[in-house]
Amino acid sequence: MTTQTNVEERLAVNKYSIDRDVHITVDTEICGTCTPRYCVAACPAQCFKSSKEGVTFSFEGCLECGSCRIVCPNGAVDWTLPRAGFGISYQFG
Ligand code: SF4
Ligand code: SF4
Repeated sequence: MTTQTNVEERLAVNKYSIDRDVHITVDTEICGTCTPRYCVAACPAQCFKSSKEGVTFSFEGCLECGSCRIVCPNGAVDWTLPRAGFGISYQFG
């Protein structure tokens, strides 16, 4: 019996139906002036990436947890759920 599974393995068992209508947008101009960048640590799917140049975001692996909207102190995250029938389907993870 497997007793340990890392995050990547757990994420890999989820199923996604990517919506062409982007359900989360991030104002990366605001992110460029943000020091704490809480979203990077808060996102369990690592949709936010931080670098010297700023913050990039991709919605495709989103788990729809809502954390990024809650932790952003600058209102940079415009968040909705995907349309019905799209987004993540949790399987065994
Ligand atoms: S916390 Fe908000 S403003 Fe800061 S980097 Fe993340 S999304 Fe951008
Ligand atoms: S809703 Fe959750 S999983 Fe999706 S981008 Fe925001 S923090 Fe990441």
